[in-house]
Amino acid sequence: MDAPNPPGHLCLSFDFDGPSLWMMRKMTTAAPVSRGEFGAVAVPRLLRLLTKRGIPSTFFIPGHTIETYPDVCKMVVDAGCEVGIHGYAHEMNALQNESEERAAMARSIDLVEQLTGRRPVGYRAPAGDLTAQSIELLIEHGLQYDSSLMGHDYRPYQVRSGDALPGDGPARWGPESDLIELPWSWSNDDYPYLEFVAFKRMIMPGLARPEDMFSNWMGDLRWMVREVTAGVLTLVFHPQVIGRGHRLLALEAFLDQAADLGIVYNTMAEVADGHRRGLAFGIEA
Ligand SMILES: [Zn+2]
Repeated sequence: MDAPNPPGHLCLSFDFDGPSLWMMRKMTTAAPVSRGEFGAVAVPRLLRLLTKRGIPSTFFIPGHTIETYPDVCKMVVDAGCEVGIHGYAHEMNALQNESEERAAMARSIDLVEQLTGRRPVGYRAPAGDLTAQSIELLIEHGLQYDSSLMGHDYRPYQVRSGDALPGDGPARWGPESDLIELPWSWSNDDYPYLEFVAFKRMIMPGLARPEDMFSNWMGDLRWMVREVTAGVLTLVFHPQVIGRGHRLLALEAFLDQAADLGIVYNTMAEVADGHRRGLAFGIEA
């Protein structure tokens, strides 16, 4: 990317969790695992769509998925998609001690490197669960960007380390690190909109009309194009969620509308690299 390219940038990201999403929740009977299996059915469908339209994208793939579905993961690489890390078995970082998180991150980096032939530069924390420990490990491993925080919507920024929230006084923000944040939000994630899950203590209803979800996202895009120069919007998909027929049709309609706005697609690594080189994204008057 030579320069930020108005009217705006869109990053399509796909968290190819497979069964590991359900392993994280200790839901490992046949039915929930089969919901994860469907992700491997959906990925080739998504790759055909992205390839047909010439849209670059970013996949975050847990190590467990790489080892379980090596052929499907190879298809992702062969389609030219960026691959970032996403834990080994979708572990919740806050529930891991340092040595456990360190081991999972090292293993996930190695597996992505073996898959793609290059060191990954990007990370999304499973369930967005980024901890202070995760930030230190990402910096230690030389990752360039994270995409787990929600501190902005259209602008990359530097991740801080060492924040303090004492409770009896104002927040004391830590210094900015070299790690770049490409923010996301649950409001830009297909999972809570579309996926029905019966947890032990609550129901996540999901099953919204995908057209309603994409209508919200188109509103985010239209506002960005109107109010922000060179804004970047990151959308989060899960193949096991978006890969069903009616949802894929709605995705195609959304891509048609985004094309009408003149939106430019980039991998997240491209945006992070541009930010690191001083390109100004997400400028508001
Ligand atoms: Zn995930």
